Amino acid sequence: MEVTVIEAKKKIKEQLKVAAYCRVSSESEEQESSIENQREYYEELIQSNPNYEYAGIYFDQGISGFKEKRPGFQQMMKDARAGKINLIITKSITRFARNTDTILKATRELKDLGIGVFFELQNINTLTQDGELLMTVYAAFAQGESDTYRELARMSRRRQFEEGRPMYRLHKALGYRKGEKEGTFEIVPEEAAMIKQIYKWIRDEYTVTTILKMAKEAGFHNRDGKDLRFEQIYKIVQSEIYKGDYIMQKHFIDEDRRHRINRGELPCWYIEDDHPAIVTRKLWEEANAVIEKRAKEKTEHLDLLPMTVENYPYKNKLFCGYCGQRLYAVKTKSGAQYSFYCHKRNKGVGVCCPGITVPQKVVESWGAITENIYITMDPDKPIPKQYSITKESTWKKRHKKKEYAAEMKPYNKENYHYYKRIFCEKCGWPLYRQRRDDGRVQFICGGKSIYRSAFCSGIIVPEEVMDRLPDKDGYFILREEKENGEKHYSYSCTKEKPERKKK
Ligand SMILES: [Zn+2]
Ligand SMILES: [Zn+2]
Repeated sequence: MEVTVIEAKKKIKEQLKVAAYCRVSSESEEQESSIENQREYYEELIQSNPNYEYAGIYFDQGISGFKEKRPGFQQMMKDARAGKINLIITKSITRFARNTDTILKATRELKDLGIGVFFELQNINTLTQDGELLMTVYAAFAQGESDTYRELARMSRRRQFEEGRPMYRLHKALGYRKGEKEGTFEIVPEEAAMIKQIYKWIRDEYTVTTILKMAKEAGFHNRDGKDLRFEQIYKIVQSEIYKGDYIMQKHFIDEDRRHRINRGELPCWYIEDDHPAIVTRKLWEEANAVIEKRAKEKTEHLDLLPMTVENYPYKNKLFCGYCGQRLYAVKTKSGAQYSFYCHKRNKGVGVCCPGITVPQKVVESWGAITENIYITMDPDKPIPKQYSITKESTWKKRHKKKEYAAEMKPYNKENYHYYKRIFCEKCGWPLYRQRRDDGRVQFICGGKSIYRSAFCSGIIVPEEVMDRLPDKDGYFILREEKENGEKHYSYSCTKEKPERKKK
């Protein structure tokens, strides 16, 4: 069935029945005397307009605006309801009423009747929506509230929400900017690519620390050029705006002009498909499921028994994959579980173990452990893939090879042309030769090895780097610099022996 709508013909040239409303307060004699002037003014105004039909002048005199009983006003409303008026002209909002409620109630009722109120001073016609918004604002103003301007802003914002016209902050969010057309928003392609990648990284279970690292490598940054911040990552992933939705009045400005999160103080509305999305709903859900899982794991406490082989059969079967030490169990700070760690970590010079910590939950996720295992960890991998396990036989084979790979040459002038002529740039102490656990030879700062890192942060130069020093006289002062996680070495050569820093 086809329906054709026949539009009603507009009645052309029908005259508007126009009335005027004046109110003068008793406080002002000047106004009282001007009531006649006003009457004349409006009669003239209405009658001189060919589109207007004079519908009368209503006025109240000497009655405070706060009182509802205003005979002139009541009569005008009555006549309006009776269809005698199409438009009411009045000087200003303050003349119409002094009370916000009265103004709103009356103008809304009139609006429903199809009758507009025109405020000359403010140039507002309440028949248009914008008119009503401004009205609210002006009414607040008229009410003489002490914090007028704040109220103005707040009310205009609130009003927009109530009318379903959200005050968007979308363009403030990464990924969006204002569109050409007023009130529209569009995607910023470069930022959107970054947002999407962050969602994928979270979904793929990378840690926030690693994500920040990868983001930096990818050249991602905030609008001000600064790096993304730790707390930003979850915020981005948890924001509904990136799947195209919008929560109206999620934030508001309170009486003290503070920007606050709406925790039920005011109504809010969830709008689906409000604007173009940057990620699919599927990706959004998947990434947020990961965040929820992490939050749950963080708070989940295990029932901890004394750490014995009876209670934990795998207790003595866990080894550090870097140095071969057996791992020790310690309760985590929160007491939620045990954590197994290598105690050789950071135990001074000569120990080359970056350390490892394995949470109990991770160990138990591997199933029954029946033989010794050697564990290594890469925090830059996705969480489920961070740990790798090697069987004891494989690990020992691999590490034995390294250990006997190089025979140590005697440390003398014949074997090392720079023998006793190498120094740490930071403290001026000589560098000592040292053999690592894996058999490789390196030269380390003597100041640090004796007085520890408080004295000198130290320097470690592999033998193969040292061997590149030119065969010339003088003293070599070695410098170590880190760039993008890589170490770079440089030296300077002096005639004088460098001075040692004193303890
Ligand atoms: Zn270790
Ligand atoms: Zn040093």
